[in-house]
Amino acid sequence: PESMTVQEFAKIMGKTAAEVIKKLMNYGILATINQEIDADTATIIATDFGFEVTVEKEEKEDIWLTEETPDDPETLEPRPPIVTVMGHVDHGKTSLLDAIRQTNVTATEAGGITQHIGAYQVEHHGRKITFIDTPGHEAFTAMRARGAQVTDIAILVVAADDGVMPQTIEAINHAKAAGVPIIVAVNKIDKPNAQPDRVKQQLTEYGLIPEAWGGDTVFVEVSALKKIGIEELLEMILLVSDLKELKANPNKPARGTVIEAQLDKGRGPVATVLVQSGTLNVGDAVVVGLTYGRVRALVDDKGRRVKKATPSMPVEVLGLNDVPSAGDILVVVEDEKTARTLAEKRQNQKREEELRASNKVSLEDLFKHI
Ligand code: GDP
Ligand code: MG
Repeated sequence: PESMTVQEFAKIMGKTAAEVIKKLMNYGILATINQEIDADTATIIATDFGFEVTVEKEEKEDIWLTEETPDDPETLEPRPPIVTVMGHVDHGKTSLLDAIRQTNVTATEAGGITQHIGAYQVEHHGRKITFIDTPGHEAFTAMRARGAQVTDIAILVVAADDGVMPQTIEAINHAKAAGVPIIVAVNKIDKPNAQPDRVKQQLTEYGLIPEAWGGDTVFVEVSALKKIGIEELLEMILLVSDLKELKANPNKPARGTVIEAQLDKGRGPVATVLVQSGTLNVGDAVVVGLTYGRVRALVDDKGRRVKKATPSMPVEVLGLNDVPSAGDILVVVEDEKTARTLAEKRQNQKREEELRASNKVSLEDLFKHI
């Protein structure tokens, strides 16, 4: 077991609870008879009593489905790159995302009515690129904290008239920590006081050195406002993405990450999910963080109903029982009953953890006192 009460532990040791409490007190811990002690602490105390402890790892059910079965390389197919735009406030992240989206509005989408779903795909020379729209680097960090890696390439936007600023450096650190390659978009080059070379100079301090200066970082000079350099930026994204040989197996049940989610008055809980492997289909039973459901409908970034979503494709998922959180992992399971059982187990586990956290002697406590 992960933990047991002082009383249960004493019984196993063949000691009285008082003896255990006394031992704990030697470590500076005031415990009661009903207090929980974790496995590590129990090991230390048991050793103290002269027992030899062998730890048997309990086979724990992976209710969070954290383990993805590795794919046979032969099943892998190329997938579009997933790109996040980062940078200092007002340097033009939103404008750049808009410019990229607009350059790409096709004739069929007359009027350019694109839905905002937190991520969108564009096509360049017949190849797709996925852009994560809403999450500035905060969401990026939040997702990473949950273990979800949803970015292949980071576009670092730096305004040519302003140069490197605190959030520019933060963004560089986040991308580096995630091991994500950076493409620098030197923005606002239309401005009379633009100094793109100064930006390049400044960034060398952070290890981002242009190819022309002997480094290996791709720099593109752009103007989101005047739509200059956008095609070149897309070209460079595809180039960097080719080097990464991004692949996924589309022929299996889907796994994806929630980019954003909200409760929609008419449609109920709506989650924007970025499919990362497999294919998500209408009718699939899914478990998403603490919630679950059956996919009632899928809506793409152009507001069209679709029957399925393949790797790197963002879709709105309808049919969940509750609103999940950004960064939650969506996993397709056998049937709705399995999904429900898993979600309930997760909810119970979370409740228990919250309870225990407030009344448990842990290894950290032990070391705090030593
Ligand atoms: P964000 O905070 O990084 O999302 O920045 P925004 O996209 O909101 O842009 C901040 C301001 O800079 C807005 O007033 C934009 O119109 C302006 N801006 C963005 N890109 C350019 C550009 O290429 N040239 C010029 N002159 N202004 C720009
Ligand atoms: Mg913005």
